[in-house]
Amino acid sequence: MCSLRIFILGTFLFMVSIPSFASIIGYRGEIIHFTGDYLEDKSAYQHYSDGILLVDGGKILKAENYSSFKDIHLLSELVDYRGKILVPGFIDTHVHYTQMEMLASYGNQLLDWLNKDVFPTEMKFSSSTHSQKIASFFLDELVKNGTTTALVFASTYPQSVDAFFMEAQKRNMRMISGKVLMDRNAPAALLDTPESAYRDSEALIKKWHNNRRLQYAVTPRFAPTSSEQELRVAGDLLAKYPDLYLHTHIAENQQETEVVKKLFPYSESYLDVYGKYGLLTPRSVFAHAVYLSNDDFNLLARHHSAVAFCPMSNLFLGSGLFNYGDAVKSKVKIGLGTDMGGGNDLSILRTMSEAYKVTMMRKAGSQTPDNILPVSPLENLYLATLGGAKALDLDNHIGSFLPGREADFIVLDPQSRSILDLRVAESTSLEEKLFAFEMLGDDRTVLHTYIMGKKMK
Ligand SMILES: [Zn+2]
Repeated sequence: MCSLRIFILGTFLFMVSIPSFASIIGYRGEIIHFTGDYLEDKSAYQHYSDGILLVDGGKILKAENYSSFKDIHLLSELVDYRGKILVPGFIDTHVHYTQMEMLASYGNQLLDWLNKDVFPTEMKFSSSTHSQKIASFFLDELVKNGTTTALVFASTYPQSVDAFFMEAQKRNMRMISGKVLMDRNAPAALLDTPESAYRDSEALIKKWHNNRRLQYAVTPRFAPTSSEQELRVAGDLLAKYPDLYLHTHIAENQQETEVVKKLFPYSESYLDVYGKYGLLTPRSVFAHAVYLSNDDFNLLARHHSAVAFCPMSNLFLGSGLFNYGDAVKSKVKIGLGTDMGGGNDLSILRTMSEAYKVTMMRKAGSQTPDNILPVSPLENLYLATLGGAKALDLDNHIGSFLPGREADFIVLDPQSRSILDLRVAESTSLEEKLFAFEMLGDDRTVLHTYIMGKKMK
C-alpha cells in the first residue's frame, strides 16, 4: 500500500497521495480511554458519548467525536457499535496459566493451597503437549474476557514457556511470561537449581524476548521457594539484560511473611530480600503486596516498580485486604491482577468488582472509616487499562487510544445481561454507568475483542 500515505495533521486527516482511506476502519460507539495518570490527574481521560475510533493496519489513528469527523465516506468500513462502549483491551498484571485446571479449589489458604492444589497440577507441565493444550485454552479464555495483554506465570519447566509463547504468537497477542525459578520448599519434581535456572532462562530469553509482541520476565515464584543463590541468579539476569521484566509475589499472606523472616533473618523486610539481589527495577511487578508498609510502597515507587492488586485472589484465599489508599498515596504504579487460580475467574470486570469490595472492607477495620475512599469507577477502569500498561512499562504501546498505539480494544455490551441493561438505562452519569458495568459485568459483557485490529471474539 505504498501509494497510500496518510498523515495526521493536528485534528485533521489529510490526504497527500491517492484520495482513498482504503485501509482505515472506523468504529462508532461510546468511547472512553485515559490519556495520562488518572490517579494523579482526574482530567486525564477522554469520553465521547457518540465517538469514532479510527484504526489502520493494526494501529490506532485517533479517537474523536463522531460529529466532528468529516471523512466518513472515505473509510473502507464503518462499524456501528452505537449503544455499546469501546475501551482499550484489559490488562491482567498477574496470572498463572498453569493453574487453569485447578482454579476453584476448596478450603485452603496460601501455603497449604500451594502444596495440595497448585504443585501437583504444575507437575503436568513437564509435558509440552499438555502445556500447549492448556496455554491454548487459557489464551482463548483471556480473549473471551477482553484481556488482551497479561503478565503470566508459567511453570518451572522451560517447555511450558515455549508452549505458552507459541500459542500467544499464533494469536498475535502482547504477552509477557517466564520460567518459574524455584529451588527449594517444593516437590523435587518441580525444582530447578541456580545453574539450570540461569541456563534455561537465558535460552528462553534469547528465543522469545522482544520476539514480535512477546517479552520475557525473570520469575522467581517467591522468596520462600528460592535460595539466596537463586535470587542472585535472577539479579544477574536482570543486570545482563536490563529490559527484562521481574515478576514475583510479595507479602500476600501473614504465614508467608513469617516464613520469609525465618528464611532471611538478616533482611530488614520482605521487600529488602528482593532489593538485596537487585530485583527492584522499573520493569518489576510484585503481586499482592497486602502486608507492605508505607516505607515499602515508597521504596517501590522510588524504583518505579509496580504492584499487582489481586482482590479476587486475596478474598478467595483469605489472604487479606490490599491497602489501596496507601499505595495510591505513595505513587507506586498499580495494575489489576486476576491471579487465577488464586483468583477464581479470568474476568477483569469481575476483578474490578472485587477491588471495590476490598476497598470498602478496609473501612470495617479502620478507626477513621470516613478517610478511606473506595476505588472509584474511573480509577477501576484506569487500573484495568492504562494503569496496567504503565505498571508493565508498555503505555507507549497499549492501554489507550492515543495515536500510534496498538489496536487492542474491546466492545462492552449492556445488553449482555438484562439486569445490566436495566441498570445502565437508569444511569445519569458516566461514573454511574461504568460502575454498573464493573459490578454486573463478566465475560458475557465483552461482545468483541480486537487484537491489533483483528476481531478475535
Ligand atoms: Zn500468583
